[in-house]
Amino acid sequence: MRATLVGILVAVGVLAGGAAAPAQTRVSPVDQIIARCPTSAEVAGIQARTPVTFDATVLGGPLVCTAAAGSADLNAVQMRTFQSLLVLNELRFSQPLPWTPLTLGDWFAHAIRGVKVSNLPFGTGGFCCDPAGVIVVGNPGILDISRFVDPARNWNGPVQAMLETLVHEARHAEGPVHQCPPDDNTISEYGAWGVQYAFNAWVALFSGSFMTSPDIHPAAYRNTALARAGVWRQHGCLSEFADLEMRATDSPDPVVTGGTLTHSATVTNLGPGQADGVLFYEDVPAGTRVTSVTAGQGVCTPPAEANFGAVGCRLGSLAVGASTRVTIKFKVTARAGSVLRNATPETQGILPGAVAISEEREPRTDRARANHIVALETTVKAKPKPKPKKKKKPRR
Ligand SMILES: [Zn+2]
Repeated sequence: MRATLVGILVAVGVLAGGAAAPAQTRVSPVDQIIARCPTSAEVAGIQARTPVTFDATVLGGPLVCTAAAGSADLNAVQMRTFQSLLVLNELRFSQPLPWTPLTLGDWFAHAIRGVKVSNLPFGTGGFCCDPAGVIVVGNPGILDISRFVDPARNWNGPVQAMLETLVHEARHAEGPVHQCPPDDNTISEYGAWGVQYAFNAWVALFSGSFMTSPDIHPAAYRNTALARAGVWRQHGCLSEFADLEMRATDSPDPVVTGGTLTHSATVTNLGPGQADGVLFYEDVPAGTRVTSVTAGQGVCTPPAEANFGAVGCRLGSLAVGASTRVTIKFKVTARAGSVLRNATPETQGILPGAVAISEEREPRTDRARANHIVALETTVKAKPKPKPKKKKKPRR
């Protein structure tokens, strides 16, 4: 408990000093929510939408937020629960969610009658429902993190896992059950695993700059979400297998400062099944600004800030053997001698570069696991020196 409290104080200190700090030490918008006590109005707003109760196993312990300080009287479990629900309500996506026309927060509030937080056995994130419509969640790791995900914990984070659990169990509350336990029939029917898959994919591709984590690496949270989407899509027992292959090029390489860099990616379905819900993701290389994104089919969303974020595309379906192309043009702002990368060393262990995924399962081969991810590096050189001009005659 004590360690948690100290952690929170440190995080708040970072925030307080963050306003005037240079860009690379900015705290991500999502982490700003996790670093502070929710206000009393925020707690009341959540309780009005989705009543939250805490059973005796998680009550007690020191208060970390107090009504006297403008919040509510909350222990650490309560604070993290409300922070997680605030994040869920704040998330906005530039493309509609595939299973509902509502925002994530509105869908969640409609799907359930309440949330009960309990100290569930390790390995049980939650279940549905007790009583009917009330989802029960209890992530034991929720206390010891003050970030959305945590590099020190192999990039998985309890707040992120809490959101996945809330989304998964809320889908059960709407009715869908695992058709072939523990799996759904398919990911594309958007049962509990399907929405968990899509939640992560949408966080990675379409959450704008909300999940940008400049003090780790801008793409750290998005890449983690994309990796988790890749895990959950394996939970469709009747899902077809489809092996997406992506080939991507950068041109020209080297590119000049101020010039245009083009990334061209071709996504092909090698089969054996049709690929549906094909998605494309690429993080914008530092030192560039996106000027255009085009796709052979489907729709693409450029990053919220042209020089900071991710390009996300919904490419639709690809029959076996079919392919489509995504072309992204960047204006190069980096100095000569820089190297432009769509992946960075810190995140290469997670999911680097440009990535294509679909709702189908991957064939279980090393090749299938790697052939839809491409890291690109481009060297920046100086503009050619202008040809020597004739000296102008001085004006008189
Ligand atoms: Zn389930």
